[in-house]
Amino acid sequence: MENFDIGIIGAGPAGYTAAFHAAAKGMSVVIFEKDEIGGVCLNKGCIPTKTVLHSSEIFYEMKNSSQLGICTENVTLNYAKVLEHKNNVVEKLRKGLELGFKTNKISVVKSFARIADANTILADGKTYQCKKIIVAAGAEPKTLPQLKFDHNFILNSDDILNLAALPKSILIVGSGAIGIEWARIFSNFGVDVTVTEFAQNLLPLADIEVSKRIERIFKTKKIKFYTGTTVEKIDGKTVTLTNGEELLPEKILVAAGRTPVQTEKIEGVTYIGDVSGKIQLAHFGIKQAIAVVEGVKFDESLVPSVVYGLPEIAWIGQREQDLQPGTYQKSNLLISALGKSHCDDATEGFIKILSQNGKIIGAHIVSKEASALIHQILIAMQNNITIDKLKEVCFAHPTYSEGIFESLWRIK
Ligand SMILES: Cc1cc2nc3c(=O)[nH]c(=O)nc-3n(C[C@H](O)[C@H](O)[C@H](O)COP(=O)(O)OP(=O)(O)OC[C@H]3O[C@@H](n4cnc5c(N)ncnc54)[C@H](O)[C@@H]3O)c2cc1C
Repeated sequence: MENFDIGIIGAGPAGYTAAFHAAAKGMSVVIFEKDEIGGVCLNKGCIPTKTVLHSSEIFYEMKNSSQLGICTENVTLNYAKVLEHKNNVVEKLRKGLELGFKTNKISVVKSFARIADANTILADGKTYQCKKIIVAAGAEPKTLPQLKFDHNFILNSDDILNLAALPKSILIVGSGAIGIEWARIFSNFGVDVTVTEFAQNLLPLADIEVSKRIERIFKTKKIKFYTGTTVEKIDGKTVTLTNGEELLPEKILVAAGRTPVQTEKIEGVTYIGDVSGKIQLAHFGIKQAIAVVEGVKFDESLVPSVVYGLPEIAWIGQREQDLQPGTYQKSNLLISALGKSHCDDATEGFIKILSQNGKIIGAHIVSKEASALIHQILIAMQNNITIDKLKEVCFAHPTYSEGIFESLWRIK
């Protein structure tokens, strides 16, 4: 039997953050991982998708840059190389984590782990006695009854990352962050993309104006979509939607959400990250890990959402459709009002700020750099900084941040 201060099951962002912080505090740490170090985020989620997305954006921009004076005829795509690059990025980051475990003297057990009781973990035929146990076992792709994964025609978000070649056409079921990002990736690469969304709007968790804007962008990019619609049945390769439409996609990606890994909840054990059944985002799990190990609390109602692609989409706080008319003020600044957006040929999007009693209660951004911009608002909201106080801040020109500043003056 081996003894540790802390035993952690799952080496994704929630688990490895807990491990590094505990080790930095001088605790003896053991972490168990049945698959690859880095979890879904590093191996099958955040990092590989954003790497492939970046390749797809370069490809798209090179093909469409003649108006900027860049003549790139005969731009070709080597998808095998795109995947090789993605694998290299993941491997490099994974090696960094593995080295971090070594230098911080964190014991790593590459095995499935099971909890025997609140202080005992069984793995690889051994028993580990731990003063504290944290479970960060993550989540798995959700399957739909009419769309069982066969990993060949009907794919999940893991399968899609390892397709040897691009399909000619794809049907994406679900328009959450994963569905929208893959729609953008495939569309950039020239794949014929159709998206079905059960809710009445694309990206249903977003503010309604963001959803509407995404629908407009999809129309201009010729990404077909159906809202209030899902797959009714599949007969061979023929897909029938609930609106009666029949499609013949080469592949189907089911991006209908993720289910926390099923584990028996044991009293005295702490559950963090996706398995906690709360917000399924890497940064949420990371903050939970820090809260558990360091005791540094965070406001769970102020967790930013980002959806990647050109332009980026980011939001924080309240959505307009959830507010009573007449109880709030708003501003909506078109990104095309900013000089920088013209310099960058990136005029699509807006910055919308919602406020009450002189303070920001929500912000919704569709813009290049939205993933960075949202944090300016987040810091103001978290620290109760009033709109009048923010107006005193000097924002550099030409930047997208100026859009935040300009929006503050338009709140009515
Ligand atoms: C395609 C895709 C794109 C995404 N993009 C983003 C993004 O851009 N930004 C963002 O914030 N989030 C994104 N996410 C979500 C993000 O990946 C998850 O929120 C995050 O990985 C959760 O971290 P975690 O540590 O809770 O679990 P995970 O990363 O899922 O790690 C859990 C680990 O536990 C291991 N494990 C489970 N059970 C056991 C056991 N019994 N014994 C040993 N090991 C076990 C698993 O093998 C896994 O490695 C994306 C997800 C997907 C699928």
